Amino acid sequence: MKPKHVPQRTCIACRTVAGKRGLVRLVRVDGRVEVDPTGKQAGRGAYLHPSRTCWQAVIESNRIEQALRIKLSAANRQELMNYMQDLPETE
Ligand SMILES: [Zn+2]
Repeated sequence: MKPKHVPQRTCIACRTVAGKRGLVRLVRVDGRVEVDPTGKQAGRGAYLHPSRTCWQAVIESNRIEQALRIKLSAANRQELMNYMQDLPETE
């Protein structure tokens, strides 16, 4: 029997490969970036560890914008920072 395939994704902050379920998906929808809790929303996506360390790194370095090819508005950036506040410091 073949082992069950677990989709692997790379965290855009620390570049560590992890199982899809261990990462939070961000998706570009209608010119903005949203958190996609289902991981199934259509659109260009990027993955991040659910840790403040990884989120802070990409928000401060604009790597989200590079990964999703978007210009984050100040309000949208603030929403992502609000989401980040509820995450643990590290994974
Ligand atoms: Zn990470």
